[in-house]
Amino acid sequence: MKIVVLDGYTLNPGDITWEGLEALGDVTVYDRTKPEDIVTRIKDAEVVYTNKTPLTRATLEACGNIRFIGVLATGYNIVDTEAAKEKEIMVANIPTYGTAAVSQFAIALLLELCHHVGEHSDAVKNGEWTNNPDWCFWKYPLVELAGKTMGIIGFGRIGQDTGKIAQALGMQVLAYDEYPRPELETDTCHYADLDTLLAKSDVISLHCPLFPSTEGIINKETIAKMKQGVMIINDSRGPLIVEEDLRDALNSGKVAGAAVDVVSTEPIQMDNPLLQAKNVIITPHIAWAPKESRQRLMDIAVDNLKCYLEGKPKNIVNS
Ligand code: NAD
Repeated sequence: MKIVVLDGYTLNPGDITWEGLEALGDVTVYDRTKPEDIVTRIKDAEVVYTNKTPLTRATLEACGNIRFIGVLATGYNIVDTEAAKEKEIMVANIPTYGTAAVSQFAIALLLELCHHVGEHSDAVKNGEWTNNPDWCFWKYPLVELAGKTMGIIGFGRIGQDTGKIAQALGMQVLAYDEYPRPELETDTCHYADLDTLLAKSDVISLHCPLFPSTEGIINKETIAKMKQGVMIINDSRGPLIVEEDLRDALNSGKVAGAAVDVVSTEPIQMDNPLLQAKNVIITPHIAWAPKESRQRLMDIAVDNLKCYLEGKPKNIVNS
């Protein structure tokens, strides 16, 4: 059985192994694949794995041997699942693998906004402490989180996990979700409607999926309802934020700081409005990427194929 991985580099830049897949067939791994090379590379394959390389109807029609597509991610919008279904190709995704990593990263972004550890360390190495007249100095206002309120928009797996860490730091949590689960409420964690969350939160962290109902949920109207000096965290999806509106709110000081791991177009374009904003931290969509989390993703990707071959397919998104 011929298995082709079209864009394996971000999952496995060399620190984990493809052995699990190699035990199931004849595997060719490409680090990345340009659109014009897709068909040539997969036309003889029965199994194709993709992370972000699109598999369109035209591609699937040109590659008649494919029986199974494994998406190396949770989101599978890069595959034309309807076309796959018509051609009796099963498409499997990885529904969850990175909850701990993504919630840890949301808190890392928040702590960086509160303490600017990296920039203070750089300042010390650049001699600023050595040449400082006082025994210590700081370059930004430092923020203590205990007693403050974190508003979490989207209280699913990652939202809840982020909320637990926030509570461990002494924060109160206000959660907004389309499907509230009252059993998750505690003395320090309550559901709220969106307007209440916006008005009462010192920090707002986004953990809802990107749906038409959530696209642009952070915009100039919702920002106007927030506290002066609020901090905003986003390691969910870039288009949840209207970036021009967040830039303006950061530059006016209404929003004291924002830290985002995701932006509207990735990789980020140099004309992204957030690159013109004050007090913003931007990371290159790495919340998911600790080795532990990628290993879990790899294990599930292998298991998805194994289950399919045993006639017990799982994590199929187009059945
Ligand atoms: P989940 O499905 O467990 O939770 C999502 C929650 O959002 C659910 O409780 C759902 O009810 C809620 N929701 C849906 N629509 C809503 C709406 N209109 N308003 C408010 N809440 C709404 O998903 P998860 O595993 O917690 O993942 C959350 C998101 O994290 C993913 O959708 C993805 O965008 C993002 N993510 C980012 C990375 C990264 O590397 N930065 C990695 C993994 C996931």
